Amino acid sequence: MAARRHRCLVVPLTRRSADSLVHNGKPGAQEAQDAHLLPTQIVKPEMFDASEAALIDKNQRLPNGTPLNRTPTWSDSPWSEPGNVRHGWELIRKRYADQPEVLKSFEQWAEKTTLPDMGDATVADWLTAENAPRFIGGLGGSGMSAAMRETQNRLIRAGNPARRAPVSGLMQHAAKPGSRQAMEKAALLVDRVHDDGDLRGVVMSNRVLGGGDGSYSARPRETFAQIGVRADSPYPLNTTLHEIGHHLRLELLRKHPGLVGDVAEAAGNSEAAALIKKLRFNTRELLADNELFCRAYAQFIAEESGDPEALREIADMRDGADRFYVFDTADWPRIRGAMRILLSKKGWLRT
Ligand SMILES: [Zn+2]
Repeated sequence: MAARRHRCLVVPLTRRSADSLVHNGKPGAQEAQDAHLLPTQIVKPEMFDASEAALIDKNQRLPNGTPLNRTPTWSDSPWSEPGNVRHGWELIRKRYADQPEVLKSFEQWAEKTTLPDMGDATVADWLTAENAPRFIGGLGGSGMSAAMRETQNRLIRAGNPARRAPVSGLMQHAAKPGSRQAMEKAALLVDRVHDDGDLRGVVMSNRVLGGGDGSYSARPRETFAQIGVRADSPYPLNTTLHEIGHHLRLELLRKHPGLVGDVAEAAGNSEAAALIKKLRFNTRELLADNELFCRAYAQFIAEESGDPEALREIADMRDGADRFYVFDTADWPRIRGAMRILLSKKGWLRT
């Protein structure tokens, strides 16, 4: 028997149109049109505040679990690529084939107009498909080229205190240029903040297990642990630091499980954790001790190293859809205190 299909539509509305729909009981012609609804469609507006909306957007799921199934291109337009507003030259040329003078003036403009934060790249470069990976994979979230990052890493390394077994020395780099240097920078920031013992080596690559921005795996029989960070991660430092946190946590747990637990507990008593609980989203993963610990660790290295890029990532996350991944200023002293006690007891932090 063929299943009868039930179609539901989730449409974001402004408060004004939602209020008017609630007030009238069913949509009038104008409201229906504003909300892209047919007058016969059932209207059940639900109001969310900005942080709830950010979380819904991030997870592409309503709090009751309904997936949003957002269309992959902007407004289903044929000319944009999934997850990208970039048009290709081919489509642009086809579209303006009968208006050569319009196309010509656009081409001239695109040739000489450079893009902010993309070096000397022009709009024309950006529209050329072969050039796109440069921007998607090469620069990470910061707009810095691999060469700029190399230079910066050299300076950080030179300024770091001498470490017996620095985390940056454990890394085998297999990631793409740009991403590779960002991951290396994250390890150098760790070295700036604390000492460490004899740890297993780590292969750093862009191969991510699962659906997130980064992953960590450590198989008992393998010589190396694996850290993967997506080449286009918007927060390459934070993601790498989070995964390094997983690596270090395994070592810290062996002698100080109680103190590792104290960090997770302090992180679990935060506003960020309360928001996750309130929205009941993915609580099992996001409120797990090891994840709370690693989010605290990533923020700890950013704050203690004082690195402007790492701090900007935290600020950007706090302002946007990723705010539950970082801890508020009011919660931070307790989490930082627990982390300092742990690292001091381990002998990794000289006070
Ligand atoms: Zn994690």
